[in-house]
Amino acid sequence: MNSSISKLSIPFHRSAVGNEEAQAVADVVRSGWLTMGPKTIEFERQFACYIGVKHAIAVSSCTAALHLSLDAIRIQPGDEVLVPTTTFASTAEVVTYFGARPVLVDVEACSLNIDPADVEKKITPRSKAIIPVHFAGQPCNMNALGEIASQHKLHMVEDAAHALPALYSGKRVGTISELTTFSFYATKTLTTGEGGMVTTNDDSYAQRVQLMRLHGISRDAWKRYSVEGSWFYEVLEAGYKYNFTDLQAALGLVQLSKCDSMSEQRTRVAEQYNRAFSDMPAVQTPCVLPDCQVAWHLYVLRLNLSQLSIDRDGFIRELMERGIGTSVHFIPLHMHPLYRRDYGYKENDCPVACREYSRSLSLPIYPDLSEDEVGYVINSVREVIKVWKR
Ligand SMILES: *Cc1c(COP(=O)(O)O)cnc(C)c1O
Repeated sequence: MNSSISKLSIPFHRSAVGNEEAQAVADVVRSGWLTMGPKTIEFERQFACYIGVKHAIAVSSCTAALHLSLDAIRIQPGDEVLVPTTTFASTAEVVTYFGARPVLVDVEACSLNIDPADVEKKITPRSKAIIPVHFAGQPCNMNALGEIASQHKLHMVEDAAHALPALYSGKRVGTISELTTFSFYATKTLTTGEGGMVTTNDDSYAQRVQLMRLHGISRDAWKRYSVEGSWFYEVLEAGYKYNFTDLQAALGLVQLSKCDSMSEQRTRVAEQYNRAFSDMPAVQTPCVLPDCQVAWHLYVLRLNLSQLSIDRDGFIRELMERGIGTSVHFIPLHMHPLYRRDYGYKENDCPVACREYSRSLSLPIYPDLSEDEVGYVINSVREVIKVWKR
């Protein structure tokens, strides 16, 4: 190793929560109202305003948000839902909750987002919905997907777990489809530790999600322990225990006020990486579609393996030895035992996703990653390439 560069230790993720969040949570603890209540309502109001959407409904996770969204569009046993294979377990898992079938779709080589051409190939008379995932924060080709959806009368639920804040063609992600889901998990671009949100402009979907997130009991059930609340409630449906809490909302309100500045910081890191890597033939930088604002939840670097005598796993080890934490997003779902065993998927069912997975790694990207740290990551990548150049 080059001794002129002192070794730093850079974790894959550091959360951007500080004293302000701690204070806000402490205030809620002292208020005595710990579960869903006024702070949650305020967080929903401000989130809806930020996105520019009529309804924002806070829930316990993005997985819950996806489940409730599929419930809202009335997915039935035997239905098929088209999901990209390059995503987290949740996106397809929720489909199985209904006895419906997750149909795994290949991704575009450039964006790693669901490939509209492969969606068309995999549509059958049983297809009911598409769940596009804005991978790494890069918006999907929503125009192409929208055309396919309307032509085949399919619903669309967007998994925007990576895409806060993102713009597609001037439209904020969260306002485009019938329903959109967000994640506030610890590593996501806005965090409440755990949490999620459904956004929609449709009143009846919003009502259904509000009903089902809290046991299917009448709408303001959470108020029943407050002064203006009533002891009376009615169970209308067999719902779920998916509500948010005011502790999470307090954190979320502070995070939301920093959402734009945190996004600018992540964009700064991405641009620094892009500038440095664009003239290194051994690696490929993420391709950014025109007319989009990317949320940069992840920075996925792809290796041009023909130029290197080391594979992706080896590259990760080399960076780890230099103190740099990385990750891989994602092992394509169709390669996992569940989907091979229960749905008969084989490795070459989604060849692009497999190929891109084998040469992808995710570099650290978060608001408080300093310029020096970014520089150290860049120098380390350059050094590993130099050592292992074919
Ligand atoms: C993180 C993630 C989810 C799940 O979010 P939770 O809030 O943890 O349920 C869903 N989809 C994608 C693409 C994710 O990365």
